[in-house]
Amino acid sequence: MGGLVAGRSAIVTGSGQGIGLEIARLLHEHGARVTVADVDAGRAAKAAAEISGGDADSVLALGCDVTEETSVDDMVRQTVERFGALDILVNNAGITRDASLRKMSAADFDAVIGVHLRGTWLGVRAAAAVMREAGRGTIVNISSLSGKSGNPGQTNYSAAKAGIVGLTKAAAKELAHRGVRVNAVQPGLIRTAMTEAMPAEVFAAREADIPMRRAGLPREVAGAVVFLASELSSYMTGAVLEVGGGRLM
Ligand code: NAP
Repeated sequence: MGGLVAGRSAIVTGSGQGIGLEIARLLHEHGARVTVADVDAGRAAKAAAEISGGDADSVLALGCDVTEETSVDDMVRQTVERFGALDILVNNAGITRDASLRKMSAADFDAVIGVHLRGTWLGVRAAAAVMREAGRGTIVNISSLSGKSGNPGQTNYSAAKAGIVGLTKAAAKELAHRGVRVNAVQPGLIRTAMTEAMPAEVFAAREADIPMRRAGLPREVAGAVVFLASELSSYMTGAVLEVGGGRLM
C-alpha cells in the first residue's frame, strides 16, 4: 500500500465533520488506519463509513468526549487494541462560545478551555504514554491564528489556542529524545460549520482581509496535518505551521 502514512495507525478527535473529517479522510487516502472519534458517536460512525470506501477494517468509529479523562484514555486503548499501535494523534476537537467580555460567562470560558486545552492535554498525555514506549509517533495539535493574533469576542478561544502552542512546545521538548514529534497547525478562516455560525458580514470582512482573498477549505488544512504526521517532516518538532492564505504574516 502506498501513501505518506502507509500502514500507520491514527486517531483524529472531533472528526465527525469539518476539518477533522477531512484530516481523517486524507490520512486514510495516504494509507493509514484511522480512528474517527467524535463527541457525537453517530456522526463518527457516519463519517467512518464514508471514509472507509468499503474497507471497514481500516477505520474505527468511537464516541469520545475529549474533556473526559477516561473517555480519552479509552479512545487510545481501543485504537491500540484494534490496530496494534498508535502512530499518529491529531487533537482537532473544538467548540466556540464567542461573546464580548461584557457578555461572556465564566461557563463559556471554562467550556472552551476545557475542550481545546484540557482536551488536547489529555490526548497528548495518553498518546505519549504509548508512543514513548514504541519509540516513535507524531502528534499534531490544531491551534488557530486566533491564538496568534487574538480575535475580539474570542477571549476564551484565543487563550485556549495560544495555550495549545505552549503545550505543543513543552511536549515536543519532553518527547523528542523518545522519537515522538509534536507539532501544531494554525488554520485561518476555513469554511466549516464553525464559521458558518458567524454573521455573513463578519465572514465577508475577514475574507477580504486575506491576501489570497478567500477562506480556506478543510482539505487544505488536512494537507499540512498529513505532512506533519508523515516522515516528510521527520526533522520538525515544536513547530507551528500557519495555514491562512497569507493572513498575519
Ligand atoms: P466543527 O465543524 O464544529 O467540528 C468540530 C468537531 O469537534 C465537531 O464534530 C464537534 O462535535 C466536535 N467536538 C466538540 N466538542 C467535542 C468534545 N468535547 N469531544 C470530542 N469532540 C468534540 O469545527 P471545525 O471548523 O472543523 O474545527 C476543527 C478544529 O479546527 C477546531 O479545533 C477549531 O478550533 C479549529 N479551527 C477552525 C477554524 C475554522 O475557520 N473553521 C480556524 C482555525 C482553527 P459537535 O458539533 O457535536 O459539538
